[in-house]
Amino acid sequence: MKKPKLKIKKGDLVVVGVGKDRGKQGKVEKVFPKDGMLLVTGVNQYKKHRKSQGEGRPGEIATLTRPILTSRVALICPKCKQPTRVGYRYQDAKKIRVCRKCGGDI
Ligand SMILES: [Zn+2]
Repeated sequence: MKKPKLKIKKGDLVVVGVGKDRGKQGKVEKVFPKDGMLLVTGVNQYKKHRKSQGEGRPGEIATLTRPILTSRVALICPKCKQPTRVGYRYQDAKKIRVCRKCGGDI
């Protein structure tokens, strides 16, 4: 099976294009290349209620983050600060990501 190529890497700033978090920005915390998913800070959060575990351990509400599909986010170019599509250029046989909007390296 062909591995899906992800254009987004850990540490990238992305903006959500669809869903309830539309317009939200966050940093990519983790990439799941196999699933084509990303864990983005502050995006796709949900609250989990944990029941009391008994005496002295009260229940609590934990905020957790779920991964989001790569196709639902757009990369924000660090140079022009615009959501952009990623292009590539080759230099010394190395693939370098470039912003389609301003042409800068990402
Ligand atoms: Zn740019």
